[in-house]
Amino acid sequence: MSTDKKGFFTLTYGCQMNERDSETLAGFLQDMGYVATEDAEEAAIFLVNSCCVRESAERKILGKIGELRKYKMADPGVIIAVGGCMAQQPHMVEKLRNSYPYVDLIFGTHNLHRLPQMLTECLQSGERVIDVWTTEGEIHEDLPARQANGLKAHVTIMYGCNNFCSYCIVPYVRGRERSRLPGDVIAEITALAVQGVQEVTLLGQNVNSYGKDLENPLSFADLLRQVGQVEGIKRVRFMTSHPKDVEPELIAAMAEVPALCPHIHLPVQAGSDRILRAMNRYYTRQDYLLLLGRLRAAVPHLAVTTDIIVGFPGETDEDFADTLDLVRKAQFDHAFTFLYSKRSGTPAAELPEQIDGETKRNRFQQLLALQNEISLAINQRLLGQVVDVLVEGRSKNDATRLTGRTGSNKIVVFPGDDQLIGQTVAVKINEVRTWTLLGEQLAK
Ligand code: SAH
Ligand code: SF4
Repeated sequence: MSTDKKGFFTLTYGCQMNERDSETLAGFLQDMGYVATEDAEEAAIFLVNSCCVRESAERKILGKIGELRKYKMADPGVIIAVGGCMAQQPHMVEKLRNSYPYVDLIFGTHNLHRLPQMLTECLQSGERVIDVWTTEGEIHEDLPARQANGLKAHVTIMYGCNNFCSYCIVPYVRGRERSRLPGDVIAEITALAVQGVQEVTLLGQNVNSYGKDLENPLSFADLLRQVGQVEGIKRVRFMTSHPKDVEPELIAAMAEVPALCPHIHLPVQAGSDRILRAMNRYYTRQDYLLLLGRLRAAVPHLAVTTDIIVGFPGETDEDFADTLDLVRKAQFDHAFTFLYSKRSGTPAAELPEQIDGETKRNRFQQLLALQNEISLAINQRLLGQVVDVLVEGRSKNDATRLTGRTGSNKIVVFPGDDQLIGQTVAVKINEVRTWTLLGEQLAK
């Protein structure tokens, strides 16, 4: 059975790595003659690229897959494909197999490059295809040609993670660290620059360990120096950095390479040494604060963002007070805060003292209120200052204004003409909010 439709509808959940993987998957479908659509009625294929980092993500995704059933009922030729991290877990494969019989294709994180073959098999046999690999295999560089989409692009430099933080499912579903060859990374970025990309963000679960697994090892700092020389690339960002692996060489590169943005995303996760140890993070709060001091001494006006988990098993009021205290001392520009979520198969899920939902939510609110206060206070210091903004487009909320970001990754909104899009302009800040700066362009 087939359908006359030619559209594909992508649903992507989770981190930037998944966003990037979805671009690759979309490239395969385009090469097969399908066309991206945002109208579900037009879709011959629904492609769900899933996440499993927290239970809330999985619940949302399963709910969404449930909603897709009606399209399959209306047109049995429609294909529903579920891939990515959630589908990499054996218990989820079983759940999808048994409770979601209308899902036609289930694949994991290690065989994305086989989407065309898996889909063809599905279409030709009319049977469901379940193909989840347990090991990661080689890196595939023979992926669809990359289409730049605007001024900014994400570039995956490595896959997997070796850290096994005790709460985290990522190493189990993404496999061990594998670095792409520097030549492949640079070639991709050069091609993006030719298409007009000015800003790249290098992606990996722990970019600081980039290159250690290569036959001819190259440090992350050296890769950054090479990327900083690609013609046309004006801004280079990277994420994520594990604090235990920030080497002096990286700090030096941040200080010396002009294209490197003055921003680091440095997840601290908790402010209590006891909890950091239980999380398997390999640094203390003191190590973290000293590292911040070194980074800030080397890179003027450095913006620092972080991730924090509240309610890790065994977290006492005292431990949580340590997290609040660290947040006050660290003065983060922004923090992504999460309620601890039990992930089956991780060591923390087996710990006896799981924290109840109300305590977690209560701590979460306190942390959020404190961080919002700090974010606003940091932004207030920018009042009256002039910042360089790479202009990305019209503001979604107010079409009379343009929006862009500073090197420190803050969103700036200001009135201006379309011809400024793609330019870096000087903007004087005259009003600030927790997450946005407002201003006006300085006359040239
Ligand atoms: N490799 C990156 C990103 C990992 S996932 C890093 O190390 O920072 C992004 C964030 O999700 C993590 O930093 C952590 O704060 C959060 N996270 C991971 N597992 C979680 C869990 N079980 N419960 C709640 N938050 C979690
Ligand atoms: Fe998860 Fe830790 Fe690896 Fe980040 S470094 S992906 S938190 S195990």
